[in-house]
Amino acid sequence: MSGMIVSKFGGSSVANAGQIEKVRRIVAEDEKRRYVVVSAPGKDASDSEKVTDHLFNIATDGDHFKAKGKSIDAKQSYDRVVGKFRTLITDLGIDGEDIIDDLESELTSNISDKKRIDFFASRGEHYNAKIIARYFKAKGMIAKLMLPEDIGFLVSDRFGNAKVLPATHANLGLSLSDDAINIIPGYYGITLKGDLAVLSRGGSDLTGGEVAYAVEASLYENWTDTDGVYQVDPRIIPEAQVIPVLTYKEIRLLSSRGFNVFHFDAMISCKNRNIPINIRNTNNPQAPGTMIVTTRESDETAVGIGRMDDIACVYIEKDMIGETIGFTKELLDIFRDYGINTHHYPSDKDDIAVIVDQKDLQGKAADLTNTIRKRLNPNFLDINYDLCLLSPVGIGMKNTPGVLARAATALYKENINIEIVDQGPSQLSFHFGIHQRYADTGLKALYTTLLKQ
Ligand code: ASP
Repeated sequence: MSGMIVSKFGGSSVANAGQIEKVRRIVAEDEKRRYVVVSAPGKDASDSEKVTDHLFNIATDGDHFKAKGKSIDAKQSYDRVVGKFRTLITDLGIDGEDIIDDLESELTSNISDKKRIDFFASRGEHYNAKIIARYFKAKGMIAKLMLPEDIGFLVSDRFGNAKVLPATHANLGLSLSDDAINIIPGYYGITLKGDLAVLSRGGSDLTGGEVAYAVEASLYENWTDTDGVYQVDPRIIPEAQVIPVLTYKEIRLLSSRGFNVFHFDAMISCKNRNIPINIRNTNNPQAPGTMIVTTRESDETAVGIGRMDDIACVYIEKDMIGETIGFTKELLDIFRDYGINTHHYPSDKDDIAVIVDQKDLQGKAADLTNTIRKRLNPNFLDINYDLCLLSPVGIGMKNTPGVLARAATALYKENINIEIVDQGPSQLSFHFGIHQRYADTGLKALYTTLLKQ
C-alpha cells in the first residue's frame, strides 16, 4: 500500500472558483492527498446545466437538450461552456488565454460521428483539470497535470460507455508517482487506436477507483455535496442521520433511486484491494462522512432503509411450476430478451412474481406478456403496477430475532398491506412491497421502529 490518498471531486465541488478554492484547501490540508481526480464543472447558481451536458449538446447540434424538452441550442451551449471556463480563469486570477484558445478550437473541430460526441464530452474534465493544475501551481503547490492519454488510461472503444482495459492498472502504476500532486481528469480514457472515449455518466468515480487501485491507495475519498450516506432519504425524514460506517455489501443493498451518491462499479476496484472509500462533503469538510469498508463491527440491527419507487410486479400462475425444471430460467430469459432488468423473483409451488422497474415495461408490456403466454402457457398472468419496495438493511439483522416482525407490525399499525415480502439470502436485508401511495408513511413507520434512537 502506498499510504497515499486518492481524492475525487465531483461536479458540484468544482463548479466555480469558490468551489475550486475549497478543493485546494482540502488537498493542501493533508500531504497524503497526492492523487486528485476532477469532474467537469457541474451545476451551480450561474447555470442549471452541467458542462458535460452542454458538451453533448454541442456535439449533437442541439439534439441532446431537445430530447429532454429543453430549448438550449448548440450555439448557446458553446457560449456557456466557453463563458464558464473564461470566468473560472478570471475568478481564479490565473493566466489562461492559451487554454481558452485551445478550447475554442477543439469545440469547433470537425470530428466525425461517435468519436465526435465522446471527444467533446471529455473536454469538461480535460479543461477543468488543466485550469485546476495551473491554479494549484499559482498558489505555490507542487502539482502536475496527468492526462489519461499521457498516462495510459486505456479504455475499450464502446463509445459513450467505454470500459477500462486491464492494462490500465499497470500503466498508471508506472506513470503516476507521489512526488507531486497529480491532477487527473476523470470520465475519459484513450482507446487502443488512440481515440478518446468516455465512460458511463458520472464516470469520474470510476477513474478515481482505478487510480486508487493502481497506486494501492490507503484511502479513496469521494468528495461530493452531501455529508455522507443517510439512513433514509432526508428529504422525507429530515432528522435522518449520516451512517458513519458501512460495508460494501450494505451500501449495495441500500442503493435505490435518489441514493446515488456513488458509482457502484467504482467500488469493485477498491473492494478488490481492500481500499476503504470515504464519502465526504466539500462544503462541510469537518464532517467525517461515511466510510465504506470490507468488514465492520455492528451494535445495531438495521443501518438504513433503501427505497425503490414505481415498481411493477409481473405475476404468473401455472400448475406445477415448483416441479418444472428450468421454468424460472425460461421466464427470466424472456425478460432478458426484452432488455428488462429484474430485481427480485419471489416464488412458490404454483406461482412466481418478477419485480421490475415500471418504466422498463413502457411500450413493452403487451409484447412481453404475449411472449410469456406463448412460451410458458400460464394459467394466469397479470401485472401489478404502482408498488414501492422498502428495504431495511444491516449486517446486524442477521441472527437477530424479531426484526421482520417489528417491521411488519409497524406497517400493520399504519394499516398498510404488505403485498410482497422477500428476504435477501444473506439475511442482511429484506424487502417489503407496498402500494406506492403508502410509500412515505411506510418509510416513516419503518424508520421509527428500526432506526430512530
Ligand atoms: N462529467 C461527467 C458527467 O457529468 C462525469 C462525472 O462528473 O463524473 O457525467
